[in-house]
Amino acid sequence: MLCLDCHTQDVTSPAVGVCRACGAAVCASHARVTRREVRRRPLLAPPSDVSPRTVHCSLCAAVHAG
Ligand SMILES: [Zn+2]
Ligand SMILES: [Zn+2]
Repeated sequence: MLCLDCHTQDVTSPAVGVCRACGAAVCASHARVTRREVRRRPLLAPPSDVSPRTVHCSLCAAVHAG
């Protein structure tokens, strides 16, 4: 997959992730990775398959940052 943000600028870059919000593929320079802070983890909680990281494209990152 190719970075959507780069594609709109007539640049071709391989994508390293997918925006969680809009589903756009993003390259390393356009990806905005947010680490989720997990402070409490119950001992009896089942293993979570939710990634502790959230990837957003530059557009969605700007929206969510507001
Ligand atoms: Zn890009
Ligand atoms: Zn997005």
